[in-house]
Amino acid sequence: MQLKFYNSLTRKVEPFEPVSPGAAGLYTCGPTVYNFAHIGNFRAYVFEDVLHRALEYAGYKLTHVMNLTDVDDKTIRDSRKAGMPLRDYTRRFKDAFFEDLRTLSVEPASIYPAATDHIPEMIALIERLFEAGVAYQAPDRCVYFSVSKFPGYGKLAHLDRSGMRSGVRISNDEYAKDDVGDFALWKAWDENDGDVKWDSPWGPGRPGWHIECSAMSMKYLGESFDLHTGGIDNLFPHHENEIAQAEAATGKPFVRQWLHCAHLRVNGEKMSKSLGNFYTLRDLLAKGWSGREIRYVLVSAHYRQPLNFAFDALDAARTALSRIDEFSTRMEALAAGAPAPAAAPEWAQKHLDAFDAAIGDDLNTPLALAAVFSLVNDGNRLAQEGKASPADAASALAALTRMDKVLGVLARPAAEVPAAVRALVEARAAARAAKDWAESDRLRGEIAALGWTVKDTKDGPRLSPSA
Ligand code: AMP
Ligand code: ZN
Repeated sequence: MQLKFYNSLTRKVEPFEPVSPGAAGLYTCGPTVYNFAHIGNFRAYVFEDVLHRALEYAGYKLTHVMNLTDVDDKTIRDSRKAGMPLRDYTRRFKDAFFEDLRTLSVEPASIYPAATDHIPEMIALIERLFEAGVAYQAPDRCVYFSVSKFPGYGKLAHLDRSGMRSGVRISNDEYAKDDVGDFALWKAWDENDGDVKWDSPWGPGRPGWHIECSAMSMKYLGESFDLHTGGIDNLFPHHENEIAQAEAATGKPFVRQWLHCAHLRVNGEKMSKSLGNFYTLRDLLAKGWSGREIRYVLVSAHYRQPLNFAFDALDAARTALSRIDEFSTRMEALAAGAPAPAAAPEWAQKHLDAFDAAIGDDLNTPLALAAVFSLVNDGNRLAQEGKASPADAASALAALTRMDKVLGVLARPAAEVPAAVRALVEARAAARAAKDWAESDRLRGEIAALGWTVKDTKDGPRLSPSA
């Protein structure tokens, strides 16, 4: 399966051609762990999850790195406000972040390096930048990257550098930096930082945000790697600066393809903490929406299209998902445990092909969902006409399972099975293991009384709502 992505660097849709054939290296900028992430942030993480899943679906062996920014102005400010050591303060939000990712069925990355565990790597990279002649220490004791010394600066954001520099050179003596476009590699300690500081050749302080991602991505993925992503607001200056740092140090191209998702908006404005127009995932769960419904809203738009957040989109997601669930239930009843044939029948295969083409074409999730619903419509029509064989039904279920490897929203979540039913299923499995068939049958009856049918398959008990 050929994947194609829109590359922000070239502004073209290009085939995915990894550095090492058959393998893919992906770096995604992770959260700053000073608060709960909002669903705008999760738009980025869910888009990256679809990318992660698509790469694996297409057969690549994936190494996915997502950093955790656990030291910066905001983490320091808020930990001091809370009177807590930085590490304890950020721990809480790291844990919350991972819990939220599970709620949204986001596949785990291969590694989540934390900035505070990689200070030596960042210092080493800054030393290389001094050797390359692009770093300097200013009178304010901070270390800066000199953008005028790196000829490629601006290539990601497609900046007109001559215009940029003349525009910002106005009152240079107000700045410690040589040029306002210069950015901090190392921030000198001051009293606002409390006890947060590391020793360095330039005095005590802490790394700048940008150096974090260059150092950690190259540590885990090599000096040139395949894919780097984030929300569109990360493109400039963050990703531009990452390229400058990495390429000035190594002399090699840093990343082949840069992918950025458009913003989740509220009434036309970016959802953001600073505007106060945000919902955390937890806010929406408390209002009765499920992670699956929220994920559905996020995947239903193409990642490069702005998406306006509105509650009617969640209503529509609920309706769409119940249609899919009804279809699954209907097909399960018709398949009656029959295995799916090795080759899907032509009527189902054409929707699988359309699905693959949509995902391959720059992760076109709206078109991929259209293929899901075409499968649902055709399967329902066959069933209505009494023409759906068990093999047809089993193929339809297998097609949904396959499509869900990328979308992560189609499977009826296990959590929707009531806890009481799950407890009975477990008790019944224990009875069967003890060969207590009478007890097993009695428990099957209890499960049926709660509206669920349990079937024993070679993979263990399979539960479905009674038709
Ligand atoms: P931050 O914690 O602000 O660095 O953001 C974490 C990730 O969320 C980055 O990839 C941002 O680009 C992304 N992001 C922030 N706000 C939004 C939004 N409203 N829509 C989509 N992505 C966003
Ligand atoms: Zn980053």
